Amino acid sequence: MPTCLYCQQPNPPQEAECSNCGMPLPALADTAGERRQKRFFWFCIGLTVFCAVMIVWLPRHLF
Ligand SMILES: [Zn+2]
Repeated sequence: MPTCLYCQQPNPPQEAECSNCGMPLPALADTAGERRQKRFFWFCIGLTVFCAVMIVWLPRHLF
């Protein structure tokens, strides 16, 4: 149950604004975690693509 940061009023879940004072409620914890996980996933994809490009692009005969 999300609690308002401004008036400490407990609010029903899926509520975007506080029912008491109307201020926006903090994002749900699991939603933020999911977003972070998605960002990390795309970071890994980008890193993999970068490494693949570097393997092909960098000259091999120098080593
Ligand atoms: Zn409030």
